[in-house]
Amino acid sequence: MDKFKDECGVFGIFGHPEAANMTYLGLYALQHRGQESAGIAASDGERVRVSRAMGYVADAFDGEALAQLPGTIAIGHDRYSTAGDSKLANAQPILIDCAHGQIAICHNGNLVNARELRDDLVRQGSIFQSSSDTEVILHLYARSRAANVEDAIVESVSQVQGAFSLVMLTRDRLIAVRDPHGFRPLAVGRLGDATVVCSETCAMDLIGATYVRDVEPGEVLVVSADGMRSLKPFPPAPLAHCIFEHVYFARPDSYVFGQSVNEVRTNLGRILAREQAVDADVVVPVPDSGVCAAMGFAEASGVPLRMGLIRNHYVGRTFIQPQSAIRHFGVKVKLNPVRSILEGRRVVLVDDSIVRGTTSRKIVKMVRAAGAKEVHVRISCPPTISPCFYGVDTPRRADLIAATHTLEEITKYLAADSVAYLSLEGLLSAVGAERQSYCSSCYTGVYPVAFPRDEASYLQLALKLDTEAVTRS
Ligand code: SF4
Repeated sequence: MDKFKDECGVFGIFGHPEAANMTYLGLYALQHRGQESAGIAASDGERVRVSRAMGYVADAFDGEALAQLPGTIAIGHDRYSTAGDSKLANAQPILIDCAHGQIAICHNGNLVNARELRDDLVRQGSIFQSSSDTEVILHLYARSRAANVEDAIVESVSQVQGAFSLVMLTRDRLIAVRDPHGFRPLAVGRLGDATVVCSETCAMDLIGATYVRDVEPGEVLVVSADGMRSLKPFPPAPLAHCIFEHVYFARPDSYVFGQSVNEVRTNLGRILAREQAVDADVVVPVPDSGVCAAMGFAEASGVPLRMGLIRNHYVGRTFIQPQSAIRHFGVKVKLNPVRSILEGRRVVLVDDSIVRGTTSRKIVKMVRAAGAKEVHVRISCPPTISPCFYGVDTPRRADLIAATHTLEEITKYLAADSVAYLSLEGLLSAVGAERQSYCSSCYTGVYPVAFPRDEASYLQLALKLDTEAVTRS
């Protein structure tokens, strides 16, 4: 589907006899945050072991693989990557052994100065195993002359800029770090005597853990046999929680940044209905991403909600498009219209976002072909006009339809009767009093953390480092 892609989900647990099994389940709940590769590292107090594989976590691990990861501390990672750098070397956790001992790391986010740091490190003799920006942190850590592990972590993380929610594992401790802006979520919970950290609270629900609080922006949380210690080594910075987590990325059953995703997302739909009302017979969500907003839209508008599009949940990476008679399946593989709901009706089609517009165009066509009399597209966020530099895979500005086309042109391209977006004010009001804490750069083009290069080379070189490796060698 034509969506922004999140980069990763992270999970960590300390003090549980089945740490690797719990991590497996946590990654399972966070699978929506990354499907390219999955990995788990575990420590039995003597040694850290890691296992990583391409694909979904359920395919990457079986009982035998988990049995090879004994210990009471574990971390795990679901990774999304672009096609070019989808390879096992970039899967996480990344494990190294250095003067400070073994350390494994998982990262959700994107480091805006990774390229500069990497170039410096390579000049000084570092040899990188992967093209991931995360490895930069490990090289800085390995080179640190700090007296202990915690100081070395603080020293290395202090040098990186951008978005990072990190979970790290040493022989005897779990460390969670969140960048001072708090771009990506990271929550802390309890499971009996064990401590859990994870990208979204839905991972806690699955294993029966209880949410306690978020890792605070700029906090380094160290969990060891001595308990939990909180360090605040970074200078404070303006908060910049990613508002797109509420719009699309996070699961609606999660709490992120201390707020219910379901409540915020439904609110987006309510506000959208008030801002962009239209005479219609039925509200139809584009599943699954448009469902919460469509419910809010239906509630606020009084127009009934019906599931006029049904999603096939079993379409995965392994789908092979037949070469024979039926070609160009496109979106039809994933969605099928319900004619009895759509035929002869004026339809409000609610989705969370439009990126390139290619999928939306096919969906409008599909709804019309099923007999809809009118199709009015309503989008529960403002026009996406700028790429993200903070851990989300986005196309270049030139490929974002809202950056290059007027609303009239978009309406014509989608072949819709009308297209309307939520306003920026509407988006921010959906998160309530916390509105000042959010990043909304992909809607404004105003970025809270500067990135050092022009957009084209940044997107190519920093987010897609494999391309860089090829072109520079
Ligand atoms: S630019 Fe958009 S997607 Fe990226 S962190 Fe900000 S709100 Fe999130």
